[in-house]
Amino acid sequence: MRRIVTGNQAVALGALRSGVRVVTGYPGTPSTGVVEHLLTMDLPGRHVEWSTNEKVAFEIAAGAAWAGQRALVTMKMSGVNVAYDALISIAYSGTNGGLVIYVADDPGVSAGMAEQDSRGFALLSDLPMLEPATVAEAYELAAAAFEISERAKTPVFLRLTTAVALTHVGIDVPTDVPLPPTRGVILERSIARCTKAGAKICLDQHRALIERLAVAGDAIREMGLNSLALVGEPGGLGVVAVGPTFAYLSEALALAGLEEHRISLLKTVTTTPFPLQEAEALLRHCSVVLVLEELEPFFERELWIAARRIGVDVRIVGKLDGTLSRLEEYRADEIARGLVACGTWHVGTANKKEPARGLADTTPDASSHKLHATSYERLAAPRPITVCAGCPHRGTYMAIEAAIKKAGLSKDAVMVTGDIGCTILGMNPPFELVWNEVSMGSSVSLAQGYVHAGIGTPVIATIGDSTFFHGGIPGLLNAVQHRVPLTLVVMDNGWTAMTGMQVNPGTEDAFQDGGRRLDLAAILPAFGADRFDIVDPYDLAAMTTVLADGLGQPGVKVVLARRECAIQARRHGVGGTIAFDASKCLLCKRCIKVTGCPALGCSAADDTEQLGQNRVSGSSGSAGRERITVDTALCNGCGLCAEVCPTGALGRSQDGDRERLGEKRQPNDRFSKDQTQNGHRERLGEKRQPNDRFSKDQTQDGDRERLGEKRQPNDRFSKDQTQNSGQGLEEKPRSTGFSSDQKEAA
Ligand code: SF4
Ligand code: SF4
Repeated sequence: MRRIVTGNQAVALGALRSGVRVVTGYPGTPSTGVVEHLLTMDLPGRHVEWSTNEKVAFEIAAGAAWAGQRALVTMKMSGVNVAYDALISIAYSGTNGGLVIYVADDPGVSAGMAEQDSRGFALLSDLPMLEPATVAEAYELAAAAFEISERAKTPVFLRLTTAVALTHVGIDVPTDVPLPPTRGVILERSIARCTKAGAKICLDQHRALIERLAVAGDAIREMGLNSLALVGEPGGLGVVAVGPTFAYLSEALALAGLEEHRISLLKTVTTTPFPLQEAEALLRHCSVVLVLEELEPFFERELWIAARRIGVDVRIVGKLDGTLSRLEEYRADEIARGLVACGTWHVGTANKKEPARGLADTTPDASSHKLHATSYERLAAPRPITVCAGCPHRGTYMAIEAAIKKAGLSKDAVMVTGDIGCTILGMNPPFELVWNEVSMGSSVSLAQGYVHAGIGTPVIATIGDSTFFHGGIPGLLNAVQHRVPLTLVVMDNGWTAMTGMQVNPGTEDAFQDGGRRLDLAAILPAFGADRFDIVDPYDLAAMTTVLADGLGQPGVKVVLARRECAIQARRHGVGGTIAFDASKCLLCKRCIKVTGCPALGCSAADDTEQLGQNRVSGSSGSAGRERITVDTALCNGCGLCAEVCPTGALGRSQDGDRERLGEKRQPNDRFSKDQTQNGHRERLGEKRQPNDRFSKDQTQDGDRERLGEKRQPNDRFSKDQTQNSGQGLEEKPRSTGFSSDQKEAA
């Protein structure tokens, strides 16, 4: 059946066709669509999940593959950095069932993060990587990757770039999704293969890894995944099109005025393993070879080495001679410029050179306007990216800013570290609050670095809920252990929002598809920070007070700013409107300037409208009457603009208020009024609700024990534990430090 799918969906369907049993991943544009698509399907006999982070996702998939099943793990390029610690270890060990690591690279950086080329990981790990050029090829190669993985007993990367992952194309796919084949579970007890216990084991594994790559190369050749077409007499132009660059080639040849059938072409879907036989044949046939690969010149370097090894005098045109860029994704005009840079070439042997028929005369002018397509960037209207209308993070930024001011400090002197996700948008106007963004969870650790550097002023770390679960927890543990004075604001909107509303461990039960929610309000107190508060980011005054108080206190202060993502809340029917009274409005535009809310605007007023003072805009110099406008299609009634309006021209509607505070939610909703209002009184869990995950008794006992009240003053370990030291863990049970009630609960 012909279906219009994205590259991501093609990968998902290709994996299903191959009998994949386990699929895991962590959301990250442009890779998110694979798991998203699978989660929309009814897939009995298969397990699909969003995991806590890419390393966890990889390890689950690797475990399933070791057990003999086919498994797929998905991530964006940054996720490979996170998974790599486990990934390289499994690469050395090899697999039993097919293990495919889908990574989506982002040349051109459409979604932020380092423009890294994941092909480097394949090279570094001696793992095969398949690089489809088109959506249809993504479907085919997803299946091929499992075959290669099982033939070579090695993990196989499948790499798409944004252009392929997000493009919609019609491809032929079967209509039915058969059950995955029944496979017995393999329980392999092999210290030599499944551990790194000793130098010999590791050296043997390294040897085996290299051998497996050669086996994979043979499989790829047998399957005919790379193709070589040598045309004409020796001495002509050759092109290497790596992965997605092939998709632009026809258009580029037309732009350059060259005929496709006169170009020798190596179309390759692998850089690792390097298609040596085909590359050498191309080098022997051509006098000039243009290498097309986005980002880093991995293939080109290998080609130089191959040319040197076989001793051919071939001019290689690409990135290493400065012709093509190592930045961004290619466009047809860029490739056409590469073709033009190859100049006039000749056919024949060294002793008998002739102009290529038709080519010398048709080589186009490099300055041709056709080769300089207008950059889409120049067409885009410049505007700062900001959070959505009604986003609770807006309240958090406003409260942090107000708290800094209330503490008598300047925003320019207080380091606010940022993290990955929506929370980083606090870097942009009007807040300009967040100073940096490094990697998942790094805000908490970076903040500690600033403290140790002797910054002298308070340090605030900001992080979203999903990012905190993903990578922020170790940083907070470190801060508490080392008593580093800082404030950590966990901005809990209940979703992994920026990538399209995926669940994370903190998402409420109803959306966990059989899983369960891990409530940050229950988890965070267990870290033993010196102060813990829960606040509502829509309650600007209360949140400001909590933050400002904390700034003046020593130790680690953790603030849980919780309010559901405005978009999701609206989808659940939660939200309200804001009332605007033009007669009270001064047109000071404070509401717009302070909140930066995209629902607020300013437009010409109706002649009959009764306006307040300053009805004529001073900033525009216009003689026309202006009024503030509220786009009700965007506004969710968060009320933050009303908080800053000096005249009460903006006011929360009754309905808005009630809905804002969650009174209309279901009783078991995660953002209930009780939870929110009790916010900063809940410090250290004193006033938790009876139906909380941990009972009051448990919490109080836990607190006492956690804070060391029942322990000996200086004892790091209890007496029982001390006596057991030096004994094997199995030999004598150790005290767990939990009360009997807690043990039962555990
Ligand atoms: S609504 Fe309030 S804050 Fe906005 S321009 Fe009018 S007076 Fe100023
Ligand atoms: S209430 Fe004000 S700040 Fe909130 S979404 Fe509506 S216009 Fe924006």
